[in-house]
Amino acid sequence: MKKFFYLFFSIIFCCFISIQFTGCSKSEVDKASKNLSSYSLDISLDDDAKTIQGKESIIYYNKTGKELSYLCLHLYPRAFRKDALIKPYSSLNIATCFPNGLSYGNIEIKSVKVNGESNNFEIDGEDEDILKLNFGFDLQNKKSAEIEIEFLLTIPNCTHRFGYYDGNINLGNWYPIVCEFDGENFDTSPYYSTGDPFNSSVANYEVRFTYPSSYLLCSTGKIDSSSNNETTTATIKAKAVRDFAMCLSSKSKIVKDEASSVEVMYMGYSDDENHNEMLTISKEALSYFNKTFGTYPYSTLSIVKTPFIYGGMEYPNVVFVSDAIDDEEEYLKVIVHEIAHQWWYSAVGNNEIQDAWLDESLAEYSTALFFENHNKYGLSYKDLVQDALSSYLLYVDVIGTIRGEVNTKMNLKVYEYQNDYEYSYMVYVKGVIMFDNLRDVVGINKIVAGLKKYYADNKFKIASTADFFKAFKSACHKDLDGFFDSYLNGTVIIANLN
Ligand SMILES: [Zn+2]
Repeated sequence: MKKFFYLFFSIIFCCFISIQFTGCSKSEVDKASKNLSSYSLDISLDDDAKTIQGKESIIYYNKTGKELSYLCLHLYPRAFRKDALIKPYSSLNIATCFPNGLSYGNIEIKSVKVNGESNNFEIDGEDEDILKLNFGFDLQNKKSAEIEIEFLLTIPNCTHRFGYYDGNINLGNWYPIVCEFDGENFDTSPYYSTGDPFNSSVANYEVRFTYPSSYLLCSTGKIDSSSNNETTTATIKAKAVRDFAMCLSSKSKIVKDEASSVEVMYMGYSDDENHNEMLTISKEALSYFNKTFGTYPYSTLSIVKTPFIYGGMEYPNVVFVSDAIDDEEEYLKVIVHEIAHQWWYSAVGNNEIQDAWLDESLAEYSTALFFENHNKYGLSYKDLVQDALSSYLLYVDVIGTIRGEVNTKMNLKVYEYQNDYEYSYMVYVKGVIMFDNLRDVVGINKIVAGLKKYYADNKFKIASTADFFKAFKSACHKDLDGFFDSYLNGTVIIANLN
């Protein structure tokens, strides 16, 4: 029996298109790694100063289809500097971000060379967080240029993606990374406080990282390390990944095992007693999504418990889960949600500033499907959907009463949401309601077929809302654009008939 129903406008069913699924294998990554830009970083941590000295060499491969006279790179750590105008945290979470009081970080660019020649770089962008390199020549399409950058990172004392706190160091969005080209311009979006405001193509990475041997390291890619008593040097390689993140911990232990031919690691605090349980659910999530949506193409996956401002954060091959989550059910949900992002965001990318719903709604609904298929955790699909519905309706009611109107659009840009609550309810919670409603319309098998199709068609690419519509139209043999639009544009009326 249905507990609720939704009325929606403009649902048009038509079009039968055959479905084709493609298989995947590890060699897929090798294939995807051809003709990509490559990043080579050589960095070392000064643990006392909490600074990182680094050299980065990028072989930038121009795939924009245009001649380029300049290149832009994000300098995300500059969002943590004292005089930044656009902060990566909001007034709602500033206290969680800085338990020891306000602290600042930065990336200082020491020198830049392009094809071996010194470059008079500019610090550009809306909030001076973009490195702009004027080439002095035109880089033809399908040609490469070598960029060499020397930099100094100052890590803030905070629980953000880039920060150190209580024995751990989170290194997310920490190095100069090339801005996406949108056909006309580079996307120089600043580091907004709402959502995960990133947009990047897959590239190949090799990182050499020297740090005190008292730390353990988890990261994107496969780590080979050599240590003496004092220092460890890790050489990490990752092919066809859209970002590169790391976490160092001086108070953790790592447990690992294999699942679906992937090395799965869980790094939790040494005095915790649940490492094996957390590793088990991580392996189960990987295997479940692997068989349900399509093969995870990489050889490693690390789940890291760390001080963190939000519930969790996804990066290619590595996810952060906040140590502040006391409730074990919530902790399990975050692990599964972040692992689902390995399909939605990491393998299939999307512009997370413009189309945040695309990875967050899918990750959240995938989480509900995982628990539906793993009863032992006692989190039923029905309850997860009912919780989403009840909390969504309460939110809409309360905000409608206070403000007189409420935004119910799922497809706003992250900076257009008024605050983190509005963003969460529209992008995560409403996404679960939307997919559950779709389940009433087309059935679960077609939803899974749509997600498989979306995955197979867009792996290693940056997918758009149109790509998502196209995959579902093909897999469901129906034009569902009207259905999705009614949710995304906020015209659907959602009611609880419980
Ligand atoms: Zn998420």
